[in-house]
Amino acid sequence: MEEREKADLRSMDEQQMIELAVEYGEKTFRGRQMFEWIHKKQVRELGEMSNVPKAFLEKISEWYIVSGVRIVEKQVSARKDAAKYLFSLADGNLVESVWMKYRHGNSVCVSSQVGCRMGCTFCASTLTGLVRNLTAGEILSQIYEIQRETGQRVSNVIVMGMGEPLDNFDHLLSFIHLLSHEKGIRISQRNITISTCGLVEQIRRLMEEKLQVTLAISLHAPNDEIRRETMPVAKKYSMEEIFLACRDYIAYTGRRVTFEYSMIDGVNDKTAHAAELARRLKGMNCHVNLIPLNEVKERRTRRSKEEAIREFQRVLENSGINVTVRREMGGDIDAACGQLRNRFINK
Ligand code: SAH
Repeated sequence: MEEREKADLRSMDEQQMIELAVEYGEKTFRGRQMFEWIHKKQVRELGEMSNVPKAFLEKISEWYIVSGVRIVEKQVSARKDAAKYLFSLADGNLVESVWMKYRHGNSVCVSSQVGCRMGCTFCASTLTGLVRNLTAGEILSQIYEIQRETGQRVSNVIVMGMGEPLDNFDHLLSFIHLLSHEKGIRISQRNITISTCGLVEQIRRLMEEKLQVTLAISLHAPNDEIRRETMPVAKKYSMEEIFLACRDYIAYTGRRVTFEYSMIDGVNDKTAHAAELARRLKGMNCHVNLIPLNEVKERRTRRSKEEAIREFQRVLENSGINVTVRREMGGDIDAACGQLRNRFINK
């Protein structure tokens, strides 16, 4: 028999689930019931829906699955304030997520793709290229599984793991709606951050969705020349185009934009770079997050010296730019996106 791909129930919204139930001769409430099992009670299998008729479940199981992820490995940081999970998907592919404990609550950083095709030269996720997009349900399942395993509620989600979320736009959008759904895990959109290497058209599409999510841009350079050295996507979009889209995003949504800036020794960390960046960001409602580079063994890029990071921060601050240096939690847990997976697939 021909192997056909089953559709993922965890990626469907409530209306689609109602339509599915009706299509199979069930009442509309059956769809709502299933939605609740999947997103409120977070079942892993169809068979766990104990008040849904077995015959109906059997019929839909021919065409549908409930996507999920299973823990392959968990690394906990020495201070126990962060953990990295390696998850396997139904088809055997691997993705990573990070759990972080903060004073204000727990954050999870999720992956949006298996691999990535953006090709940033310092990043471990792109070493194998893009394998495939994750479904909305597979992105969600990373959070559900971590909540189950830690027994603690997650209050913040950042889409900053493996993959380029805006390169998986439709699934990302469904994911955001399911994550903030009143009948699901109910994470406020204001507590969701989407990180992108700067796909301008998709930033504008996201803006038009009128969401309340925070946009984070991976900038990593003060100008296009330097940006093109490490980020192939910079050949397609200029920083000016990205800034224009960001200014529109801010005006449209009222949300402050975050710029991520990974500090790479001798590449983007000079005082003059900080001054140039400050000049270009002046007047924008933004926040700069300096990230000491996580060194990836397959890559030649090295982390900036502490002194260079402090000086960079000082220059930005003196120009009135909001800036923080990312607190390092995962130094001892293969923290750079894609590192843990690479160690596994290269075994
Ligand atoms: N594709 C998205 C999100 C995934 S990467 C993006 O580009 O934003 C999450 C962040 O970590 C990005 O800012 C990325 O550039 C950065 N990053 C990737 N590898 C890194 C490394 N080795 N050290 C520090 N930051 C890294």
